[in-house]
Amino acid sequence: MKNNTITLTEQLYQQLCNHAKNCLPNEACGLISGNGNFVKSVFHLPNTSSSINRFYIKEQHVAKALHQISEKNEEVLAIYHTHPSSQATPSTSDLVNHPTSDVKMMILSLKQQPYPIQCYQVNHLSYTPISIVIKEGGISLCHNVES
Ligand SMILES: [Zn+2]
Repeated sequence: MKNNTITLTEQLYQQLCNHAKNCLPNEACGLISGNGNFVKSVFHLPNTSSSINRFYIKEQHVAKALHQISEKNEEVLAIYHTHPSSQATPSTSDLVNHPTSDVKMMILSLKQQPYPIQCYQVNHLSYTPISIVIKEGGISLCHNVES
C-alpha cells in the first residue's frame, strides 16, 4: 500500500528508543509490521554485523519474524535501523542494501533528543520522505527475536 503517512504509537516509539540505547554503540535494527499504514508491532532483530555504522540481519531471524508477522495477520511495513551518531537520513549503503521498494525504510537517530525518527520510500538509489504520525496510547507489541 502506497500512502504518504505512517502511524506509530507513542509506546512503540519509546520502545524503539530504548532498544536503540541498549544496542549502543552499535546500530539497532528490526522489522516494523502492521496493517495499512498503522504500525502494530516492532520486531527487534540482532544486528549480526555489530557495527557502529552498518547493520546486517540474518536470514533466519528475518524468516522467524516474517512467520510471526503472518500469524498476526499483519504485513511488513518497514525495516528500521538506528543511526547512533548521524542524522536520520539514509546512507548510500542503506540505499544499496534496501531489499525492496515494497517495504519502507525507517531510521531513528540518536544524535539529538528527542530522537528524530524518519520514514522513507526507497526506489533504487533515490528516496522520498514519508511523514510519521506518533499517536498517544493504542495497543502495540514489541518482540525480541533471538536465534
Ligand atoms: Zn543507516
